[in-house]
Amino acid sequence: MAKILVTGGMGYIGSHTIIELLKNTNYEVVSVDSCINSSESALENIRKVTGKEIRNHKVDLCDKSAVEKVFVSEGQIEGIIHFAALKSVPDSVAQPLHYFQNNILSQINILEVSQKCGVKNFIFSSSCSVYGNVEKLPVDEFNPFGVAESPYAYTKQVGETMLKDFAKVDPNFQIISLRYFNPVGADESGLNGENPINKPTALVPFIVKVASGEYEKLTIFGTDYKTRDGSCIRDYIHVTDLANAHIKALEFLQKGENKTNYDVFNIGSGDGVTVLEAIHAFEEHCGQKLNYEMGERRPGDVEAIYSNSAKAKELLGWTPKLGIKEMMQSAWKWEEQLGK
Ligand code: NAD
Repeated sequence: MAKILVTGGMGYIGSHTIIELLKNTNYEVVSVDSCINSSESALENIRKVTGKEIRNHKVDLCDKSAVEKVFVSEGQIEGIIHFAALKSVPDSVAQPLHYFQNNILSQINILEVSQKCGVKNFIFSSSCSVYGNVEKLPVDEFNPFGVAESPYAYTKQVGETMLKDFAKVDPNFQIISLRYFNPVGADESGLNGENPINKPTALVPFIVKVASGEYEKLTIFGTDYKTRDGSCIRDYIHVTDLANAHIKALEFLQKGENKTNYDVFNIGSGDGVTVLEAIHAFEEHCGQKLNYEMGERRPGDVEAIYSNSAKAKELLGWTPKLGIKEMMQSAWKWEEQLGK
């Protein structure tokens, strides 16, 4: 059975992707995650949802010799999905060196070891933050990198650039960068969801924690943006749809349908939703009233971004199936069971 190594597999998107891999494919799956922002309780969630057990190597990818040992112990690896990274925009503004060190060094290590061990297929978690503040929306992949609004965004620009340059010198290596928009929601079972160690800084994880009473209120960062209600616009995508985009990308590479050995795809719903609209959608679909206040803009945030994901539809055959209602209801179902 072909083996897929998922870095960051104990994290939010990684654990949902492992679930979809176990449910929908015949791959054997193994995870490498230091649990710097997660816990191995994800293993139990994965087991509950799929009935299958997987291994996590609790290893920091910045430690190259430890990464080498993982590869030696696992043997032949068919493909890698590289999720592991620190992801908070405001934390990256506060601790830029920590972000550069963690996200860039870990990626160099995993690439060097992958090359040495003859891995051929590599999927990278990139982000729409590589576009910066864009003039023309929806944004497509022809849009060049903008000014990185945060050190986090810069690590994704460097990550992609590194892969593009690496692909040029190693034609055996097949690489896809998926530029995620805003992943939200949880597995439909309510048995797996976002459960970060660090305080959440993204909107939906914070919404559900305010609704559950863990935090007192939500602050809307910026109400004077040039948008229809003054709050930022984002493109929310259900995490299960996003997880399945990775499977499509892997299969695309495995079947040799790629014309180039490095490519990028937007993965978003294509709908721009303001922060206020997202809050109201949560209130409507989950029957909860949220305590929120208007606040100042937050450094590192872009004003508005949403995707043109036509390329993923055309070449990968991927389209999102779940809407804002399923995103909010599944996130809330997960949060409610966490409190039980
Ligand atoms: P997450 O924090 O839940 O998961 C990331 C996982 O990587 C964590 O479990 C963490 O412990 C692990 N990790 C981090 N550094 C590591 C290291 N040096 N060695 C080993 N493990 C390490 O985040 P997520 O939301 O699942 O994000 C996954 C990927 O998707 C990240 O690369 C992130 O930048 C990218 N992304 C996320 C979003 C989003 O909004 N969630 C949007 C765009 C891109």
